[in-house]
Parts: sequence; C-alpha cells; structure tokens
Amino acid sequence: MHKYAVVGRGLIGSAAARHLAEAVDGVLCIGPDEPESRRGHDGVFGSHYDEGRMTRFVDPMEEWAATAGRSIDRYWDIEERSGITFYHPAGYLGLGYPNSTYNARCAATGNAHGVAIEQLDTVELRHRYPFIDIEDGVDGLVELGGAGYISPRNMVKAQSVLAEQAGATILRQAARTIRSVSAGVEIVLWDGSVERAEKVLVTTGAFTEACGLSPVDLGTVVFGRTIVLVKIEGDAEQALRDMPTMIDTSLGAYILPPIRYPNGCLYLKLGVGEVTDPRFTDFDGLRGWFQSDGSSKDRVRFKERMKTLFPVLQTCPDWHTDTCAVTMTRSGLPIIDYVHDDKIAVAVGGCGKGAKGSDEWGRIAAGMIRGASWSSAVDHQKLALPS
Ligand SMILES: Cc1cc2nc3c(=O)[nH]c(=O)nc-3n(C[C@H](O)[C@H](O)[C@H](O)COP(=O)(O)OP(=O)(O)OC[C@H]3O[C@@H](n4cnc5c(N)ncnc54)[C@H](O)[C@@H]3O)c2cc1C
Repeated sequence: MHKYAVVGRGLIGSAAARHLAEAVDGVLCIGPDEPESRRGHDGVFGSHYDEGRMTRFVDPMEEWAATAGRSIDRYWDIEERSGITFYHPAGYLGLGYPNSTYNARCAATGNAHGVAIEQLDTVELRHRYPFIDIEDGVDGLVELGGAGYISPRNMVKAQSVLAEQAGATILRQAARTIRSVSAGVEIVLWDGSVERAEKVLVTTGAFTEACGLSPVDLGTVVFGRTIVLVKIEGDAEQALRDMPTMIDTSLGAYILPPIRYPNGCLYLKLGVGEVTDPRFTDFDGLRGWFQSDGSSKDRVRFKERMKTLFPVLQTCPDWHTDTCAVTMTRSGLPIIDYVHDDKIAVAVGGCGKGAKGSDEWGRIAAGMIRGASWSSAVDHQKLALPS
C-alpha cells in the first residue's frame, strides 16, 4: 500500500508528485508518457504535448499572477537539479486595442506586486517591434523580467526526474477506475493490475470526467482548441529573432515566438480560445479530437490574422494545425479539493493557462493531500469543489 498516489502525470500531476516525494516517502505517480504517434493511439492524451506555453506574471486575475510568480521563481532550481532545460525568458507583450481593458487589468496585478512592466503607445510599439504591423490606436504592455515560455514537455520530464530522485515510483500507464475501499483507495490500471494507496490525488486534466475518475461531478467544461503553426524559414527567421510571447486582444489570441520543435524546425504558433469551440464529455469524442487536425475554419482565420500581424510570414509557405483541449471550471481557477471523504482529491482545471503556474498548483495540491497547513497566496475556498 502506497501512502499517496498521484494519478495523471501532466504539468500539475508531475509537480504535485515532486512536491510530495520531496516531503514524504511512499509516493506513487501513475500516468503514461506522450504517445509516439497520435493517430494510432487509443488511450488518453495530455494538454502538454507541445514545446511552448506562455509564462508571465501579469494576468487579469490575481490568483493566476501569484501562482505563476511563485512557479517562475522556482523554474531555475527545477532545471538545475533535473538537468533538463524548459524555461526561456523571451519576454511578454500584450497588444491592447481601443475598448479593451485587458492590458490595464494586467498592469494592475503587475503594479500591485512590484513587477517591472512598461506601457507603450502606438509610436513606441512600432519603433520597438518593427516586425509587427501595429494598427493606429494600439497600445502595448511589456513585462520585463521572468516572462517568456516554457516547454511543457520538458517541464513534465524535469518534474518526473526530480520526483523519482526523491523516491517516488512512476508507473507509465493510465488508470481505468479509482474506487474507495475500506482500507484506502484502489486504482485499477489500463492493464488490469491494481494499485492501492491511502490517499489519491487525481490530476488527469481534460480526461478526468471522460474517464469517470472523479466520483462527483466537477462541473468542468472541456473545450477542443485548434492551434495554427507556421514553419519559420528564410527572412522570417532573422526578422522574428527578438519576438516575445504575445497576447493579441483584438482576437483574444496567444502567440508564441519561433520555437524549435523536435523535428529540428522553428515554428511560430497562434491559438484562440472561444466559447463556440467544440465541447467534449465522452472519451471517444475527446480522443478523436486529439487525433484530428482541428477546425479548418480556425485554420483560415488564424492564418490570415498571423499574416496581417507579421507581414514577413507571407514568405513562409508551410502551415499546419494542431489540436489540444482545455478544462474550464466555474470559478476560473483550478479545483483543488477532496471529492470523496479525505481519501480522493482532485487538482483539475487549468482553464487554458495552467502551465505557467503548474508548479505552484502542484505544490498546493501536494500540501493539501498530506495535511500540511495551507501556505498559498490563494484562498483555499476559491479552489473548492463547486457546490
Ligand atoms: C492549445 C493550448 C495552449 C495553451 N497555452 C498555454 C499557455 O500559453 N500558458 C499556460 O500557462 N497554459 C496554457 N495552456 C494550458 C495548459 O497546457 C494546461 O492548463 C495544463 O496542461 C493543465 O495541466 P494538467 O496537469 O491539469 O493537465 P495535462 O497537462 O493535460 O496533464 C494531464 C495528464 O493526465 C494524464 N491522464 C489522462 N487520463 C489519465 C488516466 N486515466 N490515467 C492516468 N493518467 C491520465 C495525461 O496523459 C496527462 O499527462 C494551453 C493549453 C492548450 C490546449
């Protein structure tokens, strides 16, 4: 019997497993590696199968800012001790359009925490970022310091290495069922074997409800998202070499600068989250989405926006789409709470921005399940299971 089992080894689960293992013995972490090929994979998927996730302090919501800040402060330590690099402080630029309050709300959290930010007008923006076609009336919010992007793949690897170094056992497969028994909790794995633990923390992201792993309804909504990537070649590589991570509030888009992918090529990426995106409740539908090319309508729309914003991309012929899923909660924050007695808990609901602060969300969940006193800047009640 293990003391604690973390089911799900994505960004939050691998962080929780590390924090638990560095504090106590008897930690088991259950979760598969990324499949080699998406198309033929008939199991679960994670939302971290990529090379770029934005990280920054400024956010319209205080809780996301605080958790990202605490996590960013620990990135170097995780990298150094694991020997795996995942953090690239490339900077952040928010493009604000007339009538958008996004930059002002982000600036407020930055100012409240003494984070170094700069506000730029249209002229200053055009001067500093000559590779962006800035429309009249657009303003900019720049975060200096720790903003940039992480490789979510490598961050999961780094957290997993440290969890194992600290004594955690990792089982690289999925869980089919989690059930409470008289002595603890049983986890039935994909291959039919059974593991037992005194307490279980479920961190299975978008697949939590589709796999039926929470004994209660979490009230989450899982949206399928489409991302457009363009291969950066020729003049574009030089033109975009100082590009920061960006939010374009005209479309509600996040944009990652050119990042090198495992095939050796550089890709610039844009994605948008909308309430009209497809929603998934069942396993087959969600798995099918991860295996698909996403929305062809988004592909056309996002590509046009990218070419308008960065005219040099007109010279890049190679475009493709990718898919992913986000788990939205009613509160707009992850749910970190017990869902069955004090034996089964969840840490679920990245709300489309759970990567940047994942180390802190994992730390909070690990502390809760081992009964440590609450030590987060985020009030426990705000992360409670919705009634
Ligand atoms: C397109 C896109 C862009 C994003 N951009 C950003 C960004 O720029 N910045 C940011 O901060 N966040 C971003 N996010 C959000 C971020 O990636 C997620 O919030 C984050 O991955 C959530 O972490 P998680 O651990 O909850 O889930 P995941 O990272 O998805 O991990 C869940 C894990 O559970 C495993 N699992 C599933 N089912 C089972 C099972 N039955 N048994 C065992 N294991 C299971 C999966 O294999 C996976 O490894 C983005 C998300 C998407 C989709």
